[in-house]
Amino acid sequence: MVKCRECGNERVLKVSYYLGDFKHLYHWCPICKKNTYHEILARIAP
Ligand SMILES: [Zn+2]
Repeated sequence: MVKCRECGNERVLKVSYYLGDFKHLYHWCPICKKNTYHEILARIAP
């Protein structure tokens, strides 16, 4: 689960590359329609 910093949209994100100690992820937000920083709220098990 990630939360967009700009619009606050929360969504499930299933990606293989957010491993390690990332607290934020620069990723496409479909609401903002641009890449924004997202806070990682929880990790989704593969
Ligand atoms: Zn957004």
